[in-house]
Amino acid sequence: MTQSPNFHLETLAVHAGVEPDPQTGAVMTPIYQTSTFAQADVAQHKGYDYSRSDNPTRTALHGALAALEGGTYALAFASGMAAIDTILRLIKPGEHVLSGNDVYGGTFRLFDKVLSAYGIEFTFTDTTDETAVSAAIQPNTKLIWLETPTNPMLRLTDIATMAKLAKKAGVWLGVDNTFASPALQNPLALGADFVVHSTTKYIGGHSDVVGGAIILNDTAVYERLKFLQNAAGAVPGPMDCFLTLRGIKTLAIRMAQHCRNATQIAQFLADHPAVAEVIYPGLESHPQYELAQRQMKGPGGMISFILHGGEAAARLVARDTQLFTLAESLGGVESLIELPAPMTHASVADSPLAIDPGLVRVSVGIENAQDLINDLKNVLNKL
Ligand SMILES: *Cc1c(COP(=O)(O)O)cnc(C)c1O
Repeated sequence: MTQSPNFHLETLAVHAGVEPDPQTGAVMTPIYQTSTFAQADVAQHKGYDYSRSDNPTRTALHGALAALEGGTYALAFASGMAAIDTILRLIKPGEHVLSGNDVYGGTFRLFDKVLSAYGIEFTFTDTTDETAVSAAIQPNTKLIWLETPTNPMLRLTDIATMAKLAKKAGVWLGVDNTFASPALQNPLALGADFVVHSTTKYIGGHSDVVGGAIILNDTAVYERLKFLQNAAGAVPGPMDCFLTLRGIKTLAIRMAQHCRNATQIAQFLADHPAVAEVIYPGLESHPQYELAQRQMKGPGGMISFILHGGEAAARLVARDTQLFTLAESLGGVESLIELPAPMTHASVADSPLAIDPGLVRVSVGIENAQDLINDLKNVLNKL
């Protein structure tokens, strides 16, 4: 499909990047399950040569990802962490990265426990506070890194404000857009230099594949990242690319249902006597409700809440729901429930990211909202 900025997300999700196979006419991009490609002549190859460098199924995925984020280029990786790691390879020893202090636990671990040892300096700051971010920019700062909404506190950062700040300071702005998905928010349009996704989550959408992506507009930086993708080699296999492409087809309708369901469930939780606090960007009680309305096309499918019964009650709820499966990860068609403190955020227990042990996080799936509410009600009514 020729790319056109006039197509809406629903159309791009179905068509972008995918052309009928030139050889066979196959409407869906085949899984080119091959490591190598026959060459016409010695050292004169055009096109594909080796699947770490490029593979046709991955090329189709790159096209789809770029279109979804309204970017010029996309690169797919074996995981979200591999995508983030590749961007960080643009930063040299002695240079400084200013990161949000509420980022994904694995991102914090990569910055704090891995890349710091290579001489890259990190500061972790509250990116919801413009003044704090301004004050934390140093002469050697190269990159501001943020997530919005964050995990699991669902704090929002004003991307356009951060982009202005980054431009003024002459540094890059990278946004991990995993929680919103390209259906709800497009950071490049708001001035970000890089968008990253764990495609494992909403983009894949079916909890059956691990993957990551970078989307950007700058040609020179893209060439460097493409070089790094091949040089370091954390590429997704053809089957993973196919599964992600297949997931993308329904991204728009899945996200609409995630948002509808989560809005109803957040309201139910807010009204339930066993619940002390609900954190959801679609509730007027969210401290950044106004920013959510302005920046996002919908409030998303993630809800966090705290019970009056604290940690003991939280553990019971996470254990006893039937439709909400007790599991890490998020963004799939099925509803999941977890306790961040002992589960997804165990690796950051003694850090600034430590989470209230009584906090419950749910990833609301696309099931029937009333069935999901009844499932929660059955357990909450026993507390
Ligand atoms: C899951 C996740 C990641 C890491 O992605 P993987 O695919 O698990 O490597 C990064 N950022 C956010 C916000 C995530 O939720």
